[in-house]
Amino acid sequence: MNIQMVDVKSQYLKIKEEVDSGIQEVLDTTAFINGPKVKQFQQELAAYLGVKYVIPCANGTDALQIAMMAVGLKPGDEIIVPAFTYVATAEVIALLGLTPIMVDVDPDTFNVSIESIIHAISPRTKAIVPVHLYGQAANMEAIMEIAKKHHLYIIEDNAQAIGADYTFSDGRTAKTGTIGHIGCTSFYPSKNLGCYGDGGAIFTNDDELGDLLHKIANHGQSVRYYHDVIGCNSRLDSIQAVVLSAKLPHLDNYCDARRQVAEYYDKAFASIPQVQTPKRFPQSTHVFHQYTLRIKDGRRDEFKKYLDDHHIPSMIYYPVPLYKQEAFQPFARGIDYLEHTETLCKEVISLPIHTEMTDEQLEHIITIVQQFFD
Ligand SMILES: *Cc1c(COP(=O)(O)O)cnc(C)c1O
Repeated sequence: MNIQMVDVKSQYLKIKEEVDSGIQEVLDTTAFINGPKVKQFQQELAAYLGVKYVIPCANGTDALQIAMMAVGLKPGDEIIVPAFTYVATAEVIALLGLTPIMVDVDPDTFNVSIESIIHAISPRTKAIVPVHLYGQAANMEAIMEIAKKHHLYIIEDNAQAIGADYTFSDGRTAKTGTIGHIGCTSFYPSKNLGCYGDGGAIFTNDDELGDLLHKIANHGQSVRYYHDVIGCNSRLDSIQAVVLSAKLPHLDNYCDARRQVAEYYDKAFASIPQVQTPKRFPQSTHVFHQYTLRIKDGRRDEFKKYLDDHHIPSMIYYPVPLYKQEAFQPFARGIDYLEHTETLCKEVISLPIHTEMTDEQLEHIITIVQQFFD
């Protein structure tokens, strides 16, 4: 049986006509850069998210970098990030001469721990980057309270959670990525809203930041050849915008399809004591960018090899805490062990999850998994 972590091809076949004709239109008009298709997608995404400004850019890493460039930080300023995340989150901080302060995560939700944030705040702290890991929001209400109290910027890394809804204690809801001062996302092909190449976007409701983010992504100019600030060149191209416009109306259905897979897995694994299925954070819907198990008793690597041998794809997101990465040693002083980050790096494993999974594929995966623990 052919099973993939993500089946981009089968999903494409369902929207092929619209994608193909849209791409052909871009070719016919040669409006490859900053064309009407980009503007159209920008407006559609802003409406979907309920956010004032969407600034499309070249990829999710650029989105994070541009966000950090926009909040007026200077070398030595500290930004708090979870130690258990994709490297891009912390990489751009270091690249800009800022200091990433890596903190521990919550062992149940895998998202940044509020206690650890509070503990890490210093007079040099200027921002926090919560990552909505695997498709579920971090505790944004608590994080926004901390931000208010300490005058910090919140830059959400929403690369894995686009489409998720957050509910505040007063009943108000908002899409993840639109709660902090700036939200960032990636349209990498395997992401929940992925294009067919690289792409990303930045969100904000703040007029000044909206203007500045747009400028920074465009060589610091708002009028051509007049440069107000140091910027960079980061664009979403028209062909990618066409793909994203074709997919956006399906995003909620894509999220539902992923949730159904997750529920199927949850039921099947609930009775295996050595397996912890993903816990839900009640304030957030989960869009399951990844379905990530924790494997107890030190058997994760053995389990991974067993799945490989049975041709079931799986991935370890992430095997090494950021502060143990060679590149991050300059920022690792004073951190030697973050309990939950260390445990998760040894226990997590993500199983195939995507919008096109069949019951046969799921049954097959479940049978193989159950046999390992029998
Ligand atoms: C994918 C991802 C990014 C980076 O996105 P790219 O488009 O690959 O640059 C950043 N943060 C997280 C959490 C991601 O999963």
